[in-house]
Amino acid sequence: MRSNRLLAGSRRAIPLVLAILLAGTAPLTAQESRHFDLLVSGGRVLDGTGNPWIRADIGVRDGRIAALGNLADATADRVIDATGRYISPGFIDIHSHADDGSGRGGRTIRNDAIHRKSAPNVVSQGVTTIVVNQDGRSPWPVADQRATLERQGVGPNVMLMVGHGTVRGMVMDDDFRRPSTEDETAQMAALVRQALEEGAVGLSAGLEYTPGRWSTTDEVAALAAELAPYDGVYISHERAEGADPMWYLPSQHEGRPPTLQDAVMETIEIGRRTGVRVVASHIKAKGVAYWGSSGSAIQLIQRARDEGVRVWADQYPYPTSGTDGNTVLVPRWALGDPDADGPGDRRSPADMLETRLQDPETAARIRTDIVHEIGRRGGTDRVVIFDHSIAEYVGRNLQDVADLRGEDPVETAIALQLEGDRTRPGGGRMRGFSMSEIDVENYAAQPWVATASDGGIGWPGDGPVHPRFYGTFPRKIRHYALTVGALSLESAIRAQTSLPARIMGLADRGEIREGNWADLVVFDLETIADQATFVEPHQHATGIDHVLVNGEFVVEDGEILMTLPGKVIASRKGPR
Ligand SMILES: [Zn+2]
Repeated sequence: MRSNRLLAGSRRAIPLVLAILLAGTAPLTAQESRHFDLLVSGGRVLDGTGNPWIRADIGVRDGRIAALGNLADATADRVIDATGRYISPGFIDIHSHADDGSGRGGRTIRNDAIHRKSAPNVVSQGVTTIVVNQDGRSPWPVADQRATLERQGVGPNVMLMVGHGTVRGMVMDDDFRRPSTEDETAQMAALVRQALEEGAVGLSAGLEYTPGRWSTTDEVAALAAELAPYDGVYISHERAEGADPMWYLPSQHEGRPPTLQDAVMETIEIGRRTGVRVVASHIKAKGVAYWGSSGSAIQLIQRARDEGVRVWADQYPYPTSGTDGNTVLVPRWALGDPDADGPGDRRSPADMLETRLQDPETAARIRTDIVHEIGRRGGTDRVVIFDHSIAEYVGRNLQDVADLRGEDPVETAIALQLEGDRTRPGGGRMRGFSMSEIDVENYAAQPWVATASDGGIGWPGDGPVHPRFYGTFPRKIRHYALTVGALSLESAIRAQTSLPARIMGLADRGEIREGNWADLVVFDLETIADQATFVEPHQHATGIDHVLVNGEFVVEDGEILMTLPGKVIASRKGPR
């Protein structure tokens, strides 16, 4: 009892002593403390926690939120009148392809060109922090990536992952189509440790891709365990996002392929074994045969959370995926030329298909795979032709074109290849809408599902990109919260601010709170909306007046400034 009272007494004394000892400089006078670099006054503050808005002024000083409340008597170098506007924390994108080491033809934030490194399509959505190196891919070493970003500058804040596929490729080289040995896993673990020491904040996996596809749960869990001393995060593009993985074809693979449920259970298992935070990334339920299965995936995650597993998910708010944009209904194996020496010496996909269709047994296997692919891409009425030499077909779905031709949609898929651009797989450009809105809305409604773009750096002239590059965060608000009502406005804001901040262990971002970094979005609830479409994706969102990163404008009065106030937010050892 006595020592408790002593402790309580000394605890009371600490703040004053600390204030004097730690201030470094003299405390601000009353007048100085009412002067700010920037004052955002009169707005409705959605603080990011999910609370309804409050009316409050925000005083920004030295990049941070210095005061929050009624600041009517304060002065500032710059005042924004936010009357009638909403203010939220800057949005945090925990699955970004703004960089991943693949180069992407220079379409990366790690590019000295101002229209790349300032990330206009990212910050214009209100995004102030991105987590890059996803799907198991990262440049090596992470130290070089970090140094480059710090030297050249970046628009938003950036957090770096280390890619499982990258370290797996480094250790196993070309011999990766098998589980790793114990010794190889140990070598990968050492590389993961190195990247964490260099500033990586977590491990990303791409278990549907090469070379991650051939890893075991034991291998991935062993690497995820390395995250614990750094309080790092495991973010997984899982082995399957529907009834089967994207590599699976009924004519080519025997046995039961992993399903969405298998994949979610694996992510949970990795979280359970290692104790680290794990994320089932861009969660979905792909393919007609799997619509509605968000219910069981949600149940699995919720039950694991109830048991204390630190598992989360993220989603992009669209019913169509990145690979849906490259839908080719005829299986690739039927289009490739096995005798080609190189790209210049190969028969066209249409020539190859014609040859193979002449063999009845091969033709039957091709048709089996086409039926499978149509279902996986959302069905005949949800595969849309965006580009084809027969103009009449453009803008129509596969079923409409089949009806027009009076034939089975499988024959139409073949005809599109043979009668279209014969050198292009598929004969034209098609997009499947492989997800059901029921599942997209169901996931959106879960309190542990963050919003993430899965998008990269886009600029007019880059060609067709998924509209999520430009519209993800405003769309979650406009479409899924305000129009559909899958979740409340407050929940939508929380899903892209404090929720991802907690997932990433960011203690001083994601909420509008005194002392936090001033990453802020000022927007008009009447007009905030995504504008990017599948036909014209390079369209910035509307309704976003101002975006601040570390207290500096990246969007001001609706204009993208191409400024570079972002920081690389690096890992540090110890719990957060
Ligand atoms: Zn992915």
